[in-house]
Amino acid sequence: MIGGTGAINLMVHSRGNPQDYDNWAQLGNPGWDWKTVLKYFKKSEDYRSPLEPKDAPFHGIGGPLSVQKVGWMPPVGKLAIEAGKELGLEEIDYNTDTKIGSNILQLPLRDGQRVTSADAYLMPNLRRQNLKLQINSQVIKIILNDDNVAIGVRYVHRNKVKRAFARREVIISAGGADSPKLLMLSGIGAREQLDKLGIKTSVDLPGVGQNYKDHVLLEGIHWTIHPNISSSVLSLLGPSALLRYQEKREGPMTVPPGIGASYFIKVGNPDEPTVPDIQVLLASQLVGQDYGILTLGKFKQSVSSYTVPRAN
Ligand SMILES: Cc1cc2nc3c(=O)[nH]c(=O)nc-3n(C[C@H](O)[C@H](O)[C@H](O)COP(=O)(O)OP(=O)(O)OC[C@H]3O[C@@H](n4cnc5c(N)ncnc54)[C@H](O)[C@@H]3O)c2cc1C
Repeated sequence: MIGGTGAINLMVHSRGNPQDYDNWAQLGNPGWDWKTVLKYFKKSEDYRSPLEPKDAPFHGIGGPLSVQKVGWMPPVGKLAIEAGKELGLEEIDYNTDTKIGSNILQLPLRDGQRVTSADAYLMPNLRRQNLKLQINSQVIKIILNDDNVAIGVRYVHRNKVKRAFARREVIISAGGADSPKLLMLSGIGAREQLDKLGIKTSVDLPGVGQNYKDHVLLEGIHWTIHPNISSSVLSLLGPSALLRYQEKREGPMTVPPGIGASYFIKVGNPDEPTVPDIQVLLASQLVGQDYGILTLGKFKQSVSSYTVPRAN
């Protein structure tokens, strides 16, 4: 898939915590500290929403990746920002170094449409002489020279094994699972593991494929809200929304269904009060709300339990 997971994800443009970058740098990774990566975040960005003066130094304008605040929110999203204030959570721009607070999400969006990394970087440069996009190809091995320096890749294209060589360097960006897999298939990994798989070790590098982390998502805190501030999938995706999107590139079809507001909060370690450890994402729709039209069969059985208000 051209553009990778960025072509199907939830589009939340979130840079992460300054402290995490600084920790990585301190662990022995020069160039990964917040101050350095911020330069590149800014360079990448074409920020298109109004900015508060205090937030402006953290954003870039004119870069390849357009980013803007969610332009349409269900009414309950706006109320969530107000509710945050009552809890002491000021509205913040979370892509700055202020991290605790309520916020309206920022999305990689241009003229109401998703912008993937391929849209931003690859497609506009396809005519360059030093770029070739080879689709329907699977890299199966990194080619190393006698000094174990990566000089190219072996890949399968139309059932044929082919090779491509690099003049300067090989960059592997096959995602969190396939990048380490490819390294291991190329003999770069923990010798013990490679031996078990019958792969000859070229570089004994025990960290490869370790420390895999995912962000845990807990879904299921659902409640019924007043119909006036609710939004159902059917009303969001109806003809008027379609027309609005087609004519003005505005409205509910410019955002992932139901989302808009979130809170970054701190519940754990009191020693780091400015570092959030939980993000609460408000989605004002339920899995069963489409009466099973869009969602999977297993949800159909529970539609009534999701949509019928509980008598208490
Ligand atoms: C449903 C979902 C929602 C998400 N929502 C968000 C969100 O809202 N905000 C956010 O920040 N993140 C989100 N993420 C995570 C985010 O999309 C990923 O972390 C990010 O896209 C990873 O980018 P990547 O380039 O490292 O890898 P990927 O996007 O996985 O790209 C890897 C690419 O390499 C290709 N590839 C793999 N192996 C080979 C091979 N051997 N040869 C050739 N090509 C290969 C793959 O086909 C793919 O195109 C979400 C992820 C999912 C799945």
